[in-house]
Amino acid sequence: MRQPTVTMEVGHDGVAIITISNPPVNALALTIFDGLKDKYGEAMRRDDVKAVVLTGDAGKFSGGFDINVFERVHRTGDISNLPETSISVAVNLIEDGKKPTVAALQGLALGGGLELALASHARIAAPNTLLGLPELTLGVIPGSGGTQRLPRLIGLPKALELMLLPYSFSPSFSKSITSEEGKDLGLVDAVVPSDELLKASRQWALDIIERRKPWIRSLHWIDKLGSLPEVVAIIKTARQQAKQSFKNLPQHQACLDVIEEGIIHGGYHGILKESRVFKDLISTDTSKGLVHAFFSQRATSKVPNVTDIGLKPRKIMKVAVIGGGLMGSGIATSLILSDIYVILKEINSEYLLKGIKAIEGNVRGLVSRKKLAKDKAEKALLMVKGTLDYSDFKDVDMVIEAVVENIPLKQKIFADIEKACPPHCILASNTSTIDLNIIGEKTKSQDRIIGAHFFSPAHVMPLLEIVRTEKTSAQVILDLMTVGKIIKKVPVVVGNCTGFAVNRAFFPYSQSAHLLLHLGVDIFRIDQLISNFGLPLGPFQLQDVAGYGVVVATTEIFRVSFPDRTFQSPLVPLLLKNGRNGKNNGKGYYIYEKGSKPKPDPSVLPIIEESRRTINIMPGGKPISVTDDEIVQMILFPVVNEACRVFDEGVVVRASDLDTASILGMSFPSYRSVAYHFHSSIQFSFGLVGSNETKSLVI
Ligand code: NAD
Repeated sequence: MRQPTVTMEVGHDGVAIITISNPPVNALALTIFDGLKDKYGEAMRRDDVKAVVLTGDAGKFSGGFDINVFERVHRTGDISNLPETSISVAVNLIEDGKKPTVAALQGLALGGGLELALASHARIAAPNTLLGLPELTLGVIPGSGGTQRLPRLIGLPKALELMLLPYSFSPSFSKSITSEEGKDLGLVDAVVPSDELLKASRQWALDIIERRKPWIRSLHWIDKLGSLPEVVAIIKTARQQAKQSFKNLPQHQACLDVIEEGIIHGGYHGILKESRVFKDLISTDTSKGLVHAFFSQRATSKVPNVTDIGLKPRKIMKVAVIGGGLMGSGIATSLILSDIYVILKEINSEYLLKGIKAIEGNVRGLVSRKKLAKDKAEKALLMVKGTLDYSDFKDVDMVIEAVVENIPLKQKIFADIEKACPPHCILASNTSTIDLNIIGEKTKSQDRIIGAHFFSPAHVMPLLEIVRTEKTSAQVILDLMTVGKIIKKVPVVVGNCTGFAVNRAFFPYSQSAHLLLHLGVDIFRIDQLISNFGLPLGPFQLQDVAGYGVVVATTEIFRVSFPDRTFQSPLVPLLLKNGRNGKNNGKGYYIYEKGSKPKPDPSVLPIIEESRRTINIMPGGKPISVTDDEIVQMILFPVVNEACRVFDEGVVVRASDLDTASILGMSFPSYRSVAYHFHSSIQFSFGLVGSNETKSLVI
């Protein structure tokens, strides 16, 4: 592996080109900072150097701090060697240097990389360079002056938007802006073609020397900050929004404190506070969790005996989706948005039309939420064709079956598609529970059969659980992983068992909630506590959304597979008997009204009482007394226990794959992923009623 280096080349024009090199993204490792200090010292000393152009090697400026350093800090607890301390020195050398620096940006300038550029005296960029400060996604704040310089360069509202934007580990959400947008905002001084970048940057640096261009030290610039009352009002609103959108996360409020300090008391005060706050934040569980989640997600792309045996992914040009219901239409949407041609098959023209309309609705919804350009939407919609038979299946590369959860129906479909499709075609099912060996039982193509388990809504949720059987070929797994990445999902390869990895690990989630309810705990208290913990939907609201029919059917499937640890709650069948089916028919645990948050429905309480009487498990007939923390633990520890079993059985390649799958499939709060990561060997014995097993692992 090549060592990180910083090189300097001085031209006849007196401009020194200082280049950062650390493939693949020129991450700012500690040796890079030493190199920068060294070369800057030399450039400032040398009489033949008039100005500096700072750039990155191989078409990229810099992807920012080396995140391995964060990981090392979390592991060792040693914060003495933080990159932030070293980068601050480098940044000050640039900004306060007696010779001007122009940052020549291309590819990406993110995090610490952008902070180096912000401290430069001008920024020239190649087209489509990605610019951003995503530090908050790792539980910290920009640590090298970014909190101070960005608002000064582009104004406070836009800077807040860039730094505090909702984070997500979904690759479909971008926290960065392009150099063209940066130019409009004043972050970039000029956008020039890539092959002219160095020439234009050199000239700009010479122009600064000749006073034809301004020599701007952004920390001292206040033109764009606005008046103090304006600043105070903007920060107040941002605080309120952050409180709502990022509850449990300290870094957003901390970032606002630091920005405010710098605006009110001056940039240097802001920098000092930034440095203190950065050090406090890096040691938090939030940062540990977010960094762990980052590395966990990255690890999912390595699957032993699949991605390391020299196979090349085949091109998947055309996919048939069978079933245009909720899932099929979402899956088809994801495919066409990534330029993959789709044949959508339904049982009759009415359902087919419904499916096509649902796809149109999904795509147009993205346009109205400004997530997709109108022309791209229209182009995508031309990529789908409806059909009622298999005649168009003769040249498809993959089929994804998404019909109702019915074994004989799926078996018949797989036998049919085996005949209708070419021999290389991948035969995938979106089943959530059925054993794939059973689905493919009536075919001779077991090596081509695989689970492509999307989560609802399929065009939005980022996880693609890829379920392999013992017979699925490595090539087929690799091909589906590649398609998953093309359609901007995160593929996680798992083994074949009831519920696969995510639904299996989370089946105790609602089970323990029902157990607590029958022990006398208020259901709305349970949901509220779980939502405070950070999951978007508490267990009861989740059942409302899924519909009670689905809940009964899946509970039964888990009961058959895991009878020793299934709590049979009489409540959901009772609710169905009373004509309630959750959000679907507007009769759930909650009242759903358009435009307002779901409200607890008091009319469900007598049914709950009846259910409690039926099984009568309250000790002494009285509700148990439990603390809020105990409730959260009683809901989530059984999930961790089940996750341990999933890991034990080899359903996932590595424990952290389950963390990624839970974060992306269940929206488990990623900032809690260290506290709930099951690596440790502490013995833990919190099982459901009927289970007295002790499982190793937990928090
Ligand atoms: P759905 O009822 O919304 O849609 C099923 C569609 O399949 C219907 O439109 C139906 O007309 C069509 N269909 C039935 N037989 C067909 C055939 N022979 N040829 C073509 N079309 C046929 O169901 P859904 O919620 O989209 O679920 C589909 C699959 O996805 C199920 O296996 C389910 O377990 C799985 N799944 C569902 C979810 C979820 O949240 N709903 C999540 C993950 C996986």
